[in-house]
Amino acid sequence: MPSLLWFTRDLRVHDNPALKLAADSDMLLCTYVVDPDWFRPGRFQSRPMGEHRWRFLWQSLMALEAELKTLGQRLHIAWGNPVEVIPALCQRHGVSVLMRSRLVGSDEAAQWQQIVAALPKVQAAQVETQGLFRELDLPFALEDMPETFSQFRKKVERPLLPPRPPVDPPRSLPPAPGLPEDDRGRCPQPVMVENDPHQGGEQAALAQLEDFLFTTQGIATYKETRNALDDWSASSRFSPWLANGSLSVRRAAARIADYERQVQRNDSTYWLYFELLWREFFHWNGQFLGDRLFSRDGVSNRARAVSFYPHRFRAWCEGTTQYPIVNACMNQLRETGYMSNRGRQLVASCFVHELGLDWRYGAAWFEEQLVDYDPASNYGNWQYLAGVGADPRGLRQFNLEKQGKTYDPRGDFVERWQGNAAQPVGLHTVDAADWPVAPGDPLY
Ligand SMILES: Cc1cc2nc3c(=O)[nH]c(=O)nc-3n(C[C@H](O)[C@H](O)[C@H](O)COP(=O)(O)OP(=O)(O)OC[C@H]3O[C@@H](n4cnc5c(N)ncnc54)[C@H](O)[C@@H]3O)c2cc1C
Repeated sequence: MPSLLWFTRDLRVHDNPALKLAADSDMLLCTYVVDPDWFRPGRFQSRPMGEHRWRFLWQSLMALEAELKTLGQRLHIAWGNPVEVIPALCQRHGVSVLMRSRLVGSDEAAQWQQIVAALPKVQAAQVETQGLFRELDLPFALEDMPETFSQFRKKVERPLLPPRPPVDPPRSLPPAPGLPEDDRGRCPQPVMVENDPHQGGEQAALAQLEDFLFTTQGIATYKETRNALDDWSASSRFSPWLANGSLSVRRAAARIADYERQVQRNDSTYWLYFELLWREFFHWNGQFLGDRLFSRDGVSNRARAVSFYPHRFRAWCEGTTQYPIVNACMNQLRETGYMSNRGRQLVASCFVHELGLDWRYGAAWFEEQLVDYDPASNYGNWQYLAGVGADPRGLRQFNLEKQGKTYDPRGDFVERWQGNAAQPVGLHTVDAADWPVAPGDPLY
């Protein structure tokens, strides 16, 4: 049966159950859709896709194409709204089976529903490729999703529920249909950066996995080092590859287990898996919440009074607030597309508590800037820090001065990322279309 595999956040050949399924077709069209809306100003003053993530994504697509070639396939890059592009491709090539990974995100879910409705004769399947577990593995129904991370962890921790083992890559793939040139020439030209440590693609992802676990053995001391603000080797740096699926989280978990068997097991090895469980928690939390993952009040019943001050928002984005540690983190983010977990907590706390801003603007800026942007982790963490998410403690406000003294005692980090205040960031002007988000808006 002719099939179409729509690659999304699963840009890999290793441990890809969707690709494995697609390997059984007699003709296969492997497609990735670049949506022009990603590059246009959206809600909350930001664009969905900033320069850093686009560069990384582009590299990941090129790397995926090279992997597919070794299996006798190719990657068709389409430019357009998936709701139009996917049905048109299916019709043109007589596709009878459509496959995609099951994704978190209400836009993604709505798109899928529209596509399926437009193709009544096509068999459509969403495959679980994103998590350590499949929904069926969970010891609870999704509608009974535990409210907090601790409750979740206690139900799914090893050895109670071991992660799913990775699946082998297919040995070969069915042939692709004859296709004209794809739309890659219409996509924005990514801006390449010299010596960028974030190189997209699954080979770079697997190299980083092996490096952190077996070469440098950063995993052995991870629990002590993970809070560093600015040290590549202090944490795993798996996040960008996990976010677009160039790295399978099951492969990462399996290699952590190998390290524990072959080298050593200690608090740090436990902690790295523990952090993957945080990712897992936010993944299922996002599946469970649907639209509420993006709503102002999240899972809290109380409506929080929030406001929006354009000058404060701008200062936060540009790294010109009165808080040096926040400014340094924000400059680091703009310049590299990455910020440490500690930094993210500090700047989010500042955004909500010190600056009194609506958390969704901060989350949208992260979405634009982060090379590892992932809807479930980003919006879930922001809700958590804004006191409207899965946090039993409610509000979390960090003492920024104290945090600066603890994590940057000599001021090296602040000095390094002083930034260039003369370069304003490309924010979109506030207008009635994007502020305030009014009652009746699905994101209200
Ligand atoms: C406000 C805010 C926004 C965030 N947005 C994102 C995002 O868009 N994408 C993203 O991948 N992470 C996000 N995080 C989580 C975390 O900051 C990053 O995963 C981490 O900094 C990535 O660096 P690392 O790979 O070296 O992490 P490590 O410390 O090495 O952790 C290993 C892996 O565990 C997972 N992980 C660790 N901490 C968390 C966490 N708090 N939540 C979810 N997963 C976690 C990640 O997959 C990470 O790669 C956010 C955190 C905050 C506070």
